[in-house]
Amino acid sequence: MIGGLLQRWREHRERKLLERFAIAEPLWQLTLAHYPFLARRDDADRAELRRLCSLFLASKEFHGARGLPVTDEMAVAIAAQACLPVLRLGLDWYDRFLVIVVHEGEVVATREVMDEDGVVQVYEEPVVGEAPGAGPMMLAWNEITPEASHRLEGMDPVYNVVIHEFAHIFTMDAPEGAEGLPPIADKALRARWQATMEAEWDWFCGQVDAGAPTLIDPYGESSLEEFYAVAVEAFFVAPRELLAEQPRLYRLFVEFFRQDPARG
Ligand SMILES: [Zn+2]
Repeated sequence: MIGGLLQRWREHRERKLLERFAIAEPLWQLTLAHYPFLARRDDADRAELRRLCSLFLASKEFHGARGLPVTDEMAVAIAAQACLPVLRLGLDWYDRFLVIVVHEGEVVATREVMDEDGVVQVYEEPVVGEAPGAGPMMLAWNEITPEASHRLEGMDPVYNVVIHEFAHIFTMDAPEGAEGLPPIADKALRARWQATMEAEWDWFCGQVDAGAPTLIDPYGESSLEEFYAVAVEAFFVAPRELLAEQPRLYRLFVEFFRQDPARG
């Protein structure tokens, strides 16, 4: 009885949020036109993506850094790409953060690392995006614009900052020594994930070391965690190409994300 009431209340609340945060048709069409990999999805996927986008906009706060105005166009562009990985998994995956800080361009972050002798080294690093850890989600708008996205269609390796940073959220709680591993309850899938990722990363590093072109951003060579994130970019932005180039990796992601973007 109580459970039934709660369920009805949730559905009512969701309906209200969907009305309040509905994305106007012209803005939705513009977003699809700007990001062809969203437009290529079938009707059912696009409808679900639009629904999730509204709920995402209802549940997150956007802040423009240094007075940068975050327009509806910008917020929907970010939301639509962010919601793609959770299209069949649900927005709960993103519950761990509330705020998305949008910078105009890259930001120089000050990092601290401890070396083997216990000495803390401080260095500066330019960042175009950062998944929420101690701080909020951070994204650089000039890397997300439709122009930046278009530049990266074609022969270049795939590059998508939004999907990259949101992909990191899945693996943030990976235990040490299991970098790039999302929480997977199914033991068989978890074992397959680890074996496949290792093998696919090895092959990929071999290609990069040999100077051969790769669909996945060569930055993935730096660690298994980063390989995972850039591979997820390729899975969503250029699924057919990933299926052709690294089919085992593609099929692993189909199983985990419960969607088959090459099919659209
Ligand atoms: Zn990364």
